[in-house]
Amino acid sequence: MSKRVPKPKVECSACGAPAKIVRGSYPFRECGLPNVVLQGVELIRCSQCGNEDPVIPRLNQLMRVLALAVVCKPYRLRGEDVRFLRKYLKMTSDEFARLLHIDKTNLSKWENNHDRIGPQSDRLIRMMAVALGEGLGDELQNVIASFPRIQQARSTVRIDMDAANGSYQYA
Ligand SMILES: [Zn+2]
Repeated sequence: MSKRVPKPKVECSACGAPAKIVRGSYPFRECGLPNVVLQGVELIRCSQCGNEDPVIPRLNQLMRVLALAVVCKPYRLRGEDVRFLRKYLKMTSDEFARLLHIDKTNLSKWENNHDRIGPQSDRLIRMMAVALGEGLGDELQNVIASFPRIQQARSTVRIDMDAANGSYQYA
């Protein structure tokens, strides 16, 4: 005989109405990148106001995998990628610009896509992010080995993250 375990009651964070937990995909805009989708994630969905909050287990691990997905992406870095990696390193624009030996306004132009990042700077940023980023150091050799596959022509790609097993793929 199995006992029916009552589901825990959840409330909508926006309006406080009782909400349902469903599984689905979620555009993860909170991470600062416009093109990341969490797949198979639990969502607290409110039928009253339509608000949807993801339930993200192991957020630190998810962010680490996402940082790895950005440094391994086979297209040139975009401004939002650079900003994401700088924030992953918990660095200010001043600190980051000093390490790259560039002017802070130059970095700002990159991060806002007002100026295109040169291929050498692109690779230097990836190397810094892997070498200094939390939990990424072991990947340095793999990331450098992937450099010849970086295409300059294209820059955007969707990153699908599997929230359950912590993997990613480019869609
Ligand atoms: Zn609501």
